[in-house]
Order: sequence, then C-alpha cells, then structure tokens
Amino acid sequence: MNYDYITLLDRVWANLPEKLQNPSRFQMPEPDTLLEGNQTIITNFNEIANVLRRKPQHLLTFLSKELAAPATFDGRRAIVQRVLKKSMIAKKIEDYTKVYVLCHECGRPDTKITELSGQKIVKCTACGGWWPLRKIK
Ligand SMILES: [Zn+2]
Repeated sequence: MNYDYITLLDRVWANLPEKLQNPSRFQMPEPDTLLEGNQTIITNFNEIANVLRRKPQHLLTFLSKELAAPATFDGRRAIVQRVLKKSMIAKKIEDYTKVYVLCHECGRPDTKITELSGQKIVKCTACGGWWPLRKIK
C-alpha cells in the first residue's frame, strides 16, 4: 500500500480544471455489495471492470491488496473475505480509477495499458499523455 502516491494523485487531481475532473460521459461505477457471513460479495464486479475497460483480475488484485483481504471470482461476482462497507469498496474503486484509468493529464477515461520500450505504461488515446503503470504491491 502506498498512501503517499494516492495522496499525491489526489492533489494533481484537485488542480485539474473542473471540466476535466468531471468528464460528462464518464460515470464512476458504483459497486453493488452484499454481506454473507464474513464475506463481502461485489455482485456487479465484471460490469465495473467492463466500464473501466480493465481486466477483472487486475482490479481484483488491487482491491485485495488495498482492502488487506483475499478475494476470488465467482462467475461475474467477486468475493472478498472480509466484512466491508460498500462505501469503502467504492472509495477503493475510485482510487483504482484515478491510478489506472483516468488520464493523469486530461482526465479522460480513454486510456489503455500498453508498452513503451519494454515498460508497461498507461496511455491516453485522447491527448497522447502517458504514465508508467504502477505495480500493485
Ligand atoms: Zn489524456
């Protein structure tokens, strides 16, 4: 976990022009969750990954580390081995979106994970901006 990175990113974000912070056609996906015993089930997990245009496994690995709990797939759902509030999961998905999806330069969601000289990067197809893909620790 690296809070400093996300804090820094939040600051970068706060300085973007307002229009770019809220691209009208991008809506942060909201998790639908339910509790079962000690598990939290994210019922629309694949849908969220689809909206973000990222591999479900990448998002799940991130959530598992950030929430400090093992997580597995169950069809289109994801199961996290911990009791969690929906708002907590929503915040982590928002963090993921800021780190891996929304362009750090123009704020648009038109980005993809690709390679540059053997290094994995996130590249924006709207403005051409890119940044190194942050490893999930
Ligand atoms: Zn961009």
